[in-house]
Amino acid sequence: MVVAAVEFGGWGVVVDVVGVAVAVDVGVAGVVVGVGVGVAGAVVVAAAGWQKFGGAVEARMIRASSLPVAQYCGASVQYQGAAQRSAAMSTAFHARMAGSPNHDGLLALLSDAERDEVLSWKRPADVVLEDALLRYEEAEKEIAVGLDCFGFYSPHGTEGNLVDGHPDMAWLSGNVVYVGDIKKTVWTTGDGPESLQLHAYGWALASKFGVAYVTGLWLAEDGEWLWAKEPVVMGSPRAERIWERIYHTATQDSSEYSMGAHCKNCYGRLQCPAYALPAVTKDTWLDIEYPRTMTPEQNAVFVSKLLAAEELIERAKQNLKEMVRRGEVRVRDPKTGKIWAPVEQKGKESCSVADLRAKMGEEAEKYIRRGAPFDRFQWVKP
Ligand code: SF4
Repeated sequence: MVVAAVEFGGWGVVVDVVGVAVAVDVGVAGVVVGVGVGVAGAVVVAAAGWQKFGGAVEARMIRASSLPVAQYCGASVQYQGAAQRSAAMSTAFHARMAGSPNHDGLLALLSDAERDEVLSWKRPADVVLEDALLRYEEAEKEIAVGLDCFGFYSPHGTEGNLVDGHPDMAWLSGNVVYVGDIKKTVWTTGDGPESLQLHAYGWALASKFGVAYVTGLWLAEDGEWLWAKEPVVMGSPRAERIWERIYHTATQDSSEYSMGAHCKNCYGRLQCPAYALPAVTKDTWLDIEYPRTMTPEQNAVFVSKLLAAEELIERAKQNLKEMVRRGEVRVRDPKTGKIWAPVEQKGKESCSVADLRAKMGEEAEKYIRRGAPFDRFQWVKP
């Protein structure tokens, strides 16, 4: 039955020539950590092997989409339900791309802003990576995956799972699984294709199929793929380091708030007291001289507070406009008697630069103006 069983780098390999093989791999610590089933004639890299880190006693399930922020702020995990909105947007997008009959219904479940965003997203382009042709039509979409606390694949929703999630797209090609996720723009993802969310999907699928994995992002507004430079080979030191990050993020103390550049990607920031409170209380930190008296690290918190205040004020303004528009609220200046109300404006004229170039060729350049370069302040590596 089983003619060879080899273990290397913590991964078990079973070669089976007749019937069905069952492989049990024993790690260096002498602990049975995995069982795999092979089919006649196939070489199976079983769900076996051992991890240096794993086996949290009180593991809580964390969504893969929460990992990138949770690695910096454990408290953000309590807001992971808010990530459901981005999942609903992805589902509506895939249904629309597939021409599914229920895509109108899925779009109708989104807010106006979410719907407009999804409608602006471009269809993921087919791409060739190494020898693999990755076609959007052929991708497995929104597969449910999970990882147990040893880093092995575990069906989504299994009790005791450390991480659960739904990668937007995945392709199995040869001995590599390619995992793709949709993000609005490059600015909405701090770590790009190296994000811990994508690594968790990659780990789950690579562990399931016994292959290496490559992560990529589809930047939906720009219509561009951004792929990791190299595959992650399971059992390699790099794969182990990634697992350590996933494991420690998922099991860390979740009671501490930690503000920083990551807050802009936190789904729960508008419900987070650390983020929201400074903006709604009368603080002295808005004193114009304040940044001059602070260290660069204190000023990083200052910038986070400013960005939070700006976003909350914008949200308050939008809410007030909607209440006034619906007639639920009235605003009148006591001195002038003027009311604050919507006044219809003529729509701005614009034209598509791409269409103009397509129609007019070089002649179009005479009519296209580019604005002066400008600075965009953002978080960047020095
Ligand atoms: S907004 Fe910032 S501080 Fe608040 S939970 Fe999110 S990451 Fe943590």
